[in-house]
Amino acid sequence: MSKIIASAAIRGAHKIAGQARDILSKAIAEKGRDCPVEFPNTGYYMPIIYSMTARAVKTLADFEEVIKEIDDLLPPLVDDDVWIPYLGPALDAGMATLFAEEIIEACKYLVGPNPVNGIWLGAADDVILRERGIQFVDGTAPGFAAVVGAAPDVETAVEIARKMQERCLYVFMCAHNNGTSFAEQLVEGGVQLGWETRLVPFGRGITAAIYALGFASRAALSFGGVQPGDYHRNLLYNKNRIFAFVMALGEVSDEWYATAAGAINYGFPTIADSDIPQILPTGVCTYEHVVSNVPHKNIVEKAIEVRGLKIKISKVPIPVSYSPAFEGERIRKEDMHCEFGGQRTPAFEWIRMKDISEVDDGKIEIIGPNVDAVEEGGKLPLGIVIEVAGRKMQPDFEPVLERQVHTFLNEAQGIWHMGQRDSNWMRISKGAYKAGFRLEHFGKILHAMYHERYSSILDKVQVKLYTDEKDVVKLRKEAVKVYAERDARLAGMTDEDVDTFYSCTLCQSFAPNHVCIVSAERPGLCGAYSWLDCRAAYEITPTGPNQPIAKGNSVDSKIGQWEKVNEFVSKSSGGHIERMSQYSMIVDPMTSCGCFECISAILPSTGGIMIANREYPEMTPCGMKFSTLAGTVGGGQQTPGFIGHSKQFITSRKFIAAEGGIKRVVWMPSVLKQEIKNTFAQRADELGLGGEEFLTKIADETTATTEEEVLDFITKAGHPAATMEPMF
Ligand code: SF4
Ligand code: ZN
Repeated sequence: MSKIIASAAIRGAHKIAGQARDILSKAIAEKGRDCPVEFPNTGYYMPIIYSMTARAVKTLADFEEVIKEIDDLLPPLVDDDVWIPYLGPALDAGMATLFAEEIIEACKYLVGPNPVNGIWLGAADDVILRERGIQFVDGTAPGFAAVVGAAPDVETAVEIARKMQERCLYVFMCAHNNGTSFAEQLVEGGVQLGWETRLVPFGRGITAAIYALGFASRAALSFGGVQPGDYHRNLLYNKNRIFAFVMALGEVSDEWYATAAGAINYGFPTIADSDIPQILPTGVCTYEHVVSNVPHKNIVEKAIEVRGLKIKISKVPIPVSYSPAFEGERIRKEDMHCEFGGQRTPAFEWIRMKDISEVDDGKIEIIGPNVDAVEEGGKLPLGIVIEVAGRKMQPDFEPVLERQVHTFLNEAQGIWHMGQRDSNWMRISKGAYKAGFRLEHFGKILHAMYHERYSSILDKVQVKLYTDEKDVVKLRKEAVKVYAERDARLAGMTDEDVDTFYSCTLCQSFAPNHVCIVSAERPGLCGAYSWLDCRAAYEITPTGPNQPIAKGNSVDSKIGQWEKVNEFVSKSSGGHIERMSQYSMIVDPMTSCGCFECISAILPSTGGIMIANREYPEMTPCGMKFSTLAGTVGGGQQTPGFIGHSKQFITSRKFIAAEGGIKRVVWMPSVLKQEIKNTFAQRADELGLGGEEFLTKIADETTATTEEEVLDFITKAGHPAATMEPMF
């Protein structure tokens, strides 16, 4: 490592450690040593400290121990002209810096200034980690850029951000330079910030860099199955899997050096626009460690090259940018040129399979007025009919393909889409309209993207866009009939009707022993893969993560085990899991990777189970918050008494059928009750439990927050679980 950088990093580390001591003394003086300290809604404590040292900081007193650790790590100060031959001391200084920065940020939550302030978001909670972190694993986001400081001007900032969005990177922002920051420059340039647009302003100080690195640490624990304290594997996981880099814009201070040295530990290199000493030989990082003096116009390309990213950009012939980074962009009423559907006008979207001779590939027809005919802020009816043909296409794929309309249209900049079928709602922004976006571009996007993603089943795609109310209403009737037929087809399918289940091993990239067995009545635990989806995915990519499994002979029909399924699970878990039950949460339950929408946990004294959904952040009656529960259940092992599952599975006839099904449910958060109410009531009716009335016998957070209170509530309510056989 360059001697100047090493000495500056060590100097910066000493300064930040000093700040950490100061704010900790202040916090202890104001709140006392036993004051609890935490980042909001996380099971990972101080994520960097926890992941590197396994130390679970819960109170301010625990920080005193961390300070000792920082002092041990800090190398002595050196002069600029002292040659430091190894990276070691600077890397230690970097790690000490990150620990100190976590102390500083966490104390700020207690004694201020609050990290959540104006545009600044502070720590990301575990819900965000799950939702966003998974994109680093499944490839929808190749990685993140930690942008430190500010660009020389607003235009340059906007251009750099756009380029990174187009490459699907997350942009994590912290620190300021010359009185402004990258995030503030983007706001000035009219760019929308937030997790939805992947432009995330963490904080105005350099210490906020820990929110980005803490995110990476948690990703390793949560998706990589890395154990707390196993810093070696954690850093390797990040180096190999999370493609991140630091982009330093502006004058690099000692504190920035110290933080950059911390990032180098993770294998994240620094790319700087200023003239700082370079560190080119490779070792810790994939390529170089520090590359400096990079001109702004190719700083994004350079960063990607240095970090060794491989990025595929789909070319869609439309006048606005196209990338998954725009998927979450919202368009407010004031910013829209016009809208469609959303109860304002009749609208629908419908894919139908046609004979190959009936489809003229690439043909886009507009039947009715285009958006030019609408005044700014106006609305139009819209019927989108997509006709597809292909030798491998089947009618069962129609709903799977149709669900993609949402993603495909949303990924265009300045286009917003919500809902599906005949409850869809779309907006075109003023900006997109000005750039030349017209209705035919909906067609162009759909044509290009269906070919791009589904070339193995589709040969031809044509799109018809109807905007005359009469046509839309008439065609919508036809579409609604088809939607109903499809629903009946899927709803009517049972596990007994099919002789083949499907595997999903997509999550093995981070939970190596996990496999989801997807049957007609049990979707994957993330909620994204139904049996039909898996079948379509298999047809589309025969060597992919969804493989057909012929069930073979039944081993036990009550708990749902089959010979061939067990064989498959054993083989694909590397021998770790020998048997897995489709219908039991007690005997050989299914493993969980971590993506589950809900967790069911047994409440032994009540004779029943509670179900918590991911969005519910409060304490649950089993004594754990969702985030802690997730840590217990996830990671690919079997945990009798606990299962992770999708929301939809709750209302399946096979939901813990071996233990009595929904009859066992004694507690759910009220929002979850509300969400699944209709189908749940139907199931309850079938079981003679009194339909919707059964829901009132199930406790929620308004009636019970501890196991005792649940027991009390259900006993009074006359819930059947109170008198059923114990589950174990
Ligand atoms: Fe992961 Fe299971 Fe969802 Fe597949 S179905 S993506 S393995 S959680
Ligand atoms: Zn998963």
